[in-house]
Amino acid sequence: MAAKRGASSSVAVRGVAKQLKRFAEGEAPLPSERFSATVRMTLQRAPHGSDELADDCIFCKIVNKELPADLVFEDDELIAFNDISPQAPVHVLVVPKAHIPTVNDLDEDHAGLVGRMVLRAQALAEARGIDEDGYRLILNCNAGGGQTVFHIHLHLLGGRQLRMLG
Ligand code: AMP
Ligand code: ZN
Repeated sequence: MAAKRGASSSVAVRGVAKQLKRFAEGEAPLPSERFSATVRMTLQRAPHGSDELADDCIFCKIVNKELPADLVFEDDELIAFNDISPQAPVHVLVVPKAHIPTVNDLDEDHAGLVGRMVLRAQALAEARGIDEDGYRLILNCNAGGGQTVFHIHLHLLGGRQLRMLG
């Protein structure tokens, strides 16, 4: 567990460094407060010699545009894209740019980030016209919870009647 918690992202750090360089070179506006929080969180999780997990992380690769994805939203802090294997007519993943492996790695500092993930999913549900009918938001944690990609992501599912859980 300790290794996983400390497994941070040289990829995410490179992403942050790239954005800061663009700011320093005058190509990007002053980083927002939210971006500063992302920088802090990313650097807090900066490599301690075991960044293999993040280097192999497909969602970090999507964040860094090293892998393609069907993007539906992006800002300094979050990215959202259509799931490659949709389980419903609407199946979007809302993903923080910072590499956070599981829900177990969240702490008080992430409260705002998690809130903004939910609000982004709400906005995307409205944009896709499923807000009135209803939708489901899911965060799977670890293998027992069905997590297969170890970079947290919020599933937004809707567009059909979803079965009751359990
Ligand atoms: P989870 O099982 O909660 O970890 O969810 C991982 C989700 O990521 C699954 O629904 C996959 O279909 C989806 N997924 C995996 N690889 C990609 C990808 N390259 N682009 C979009 N979605 C992906
Ligand atoms: Zn990652």
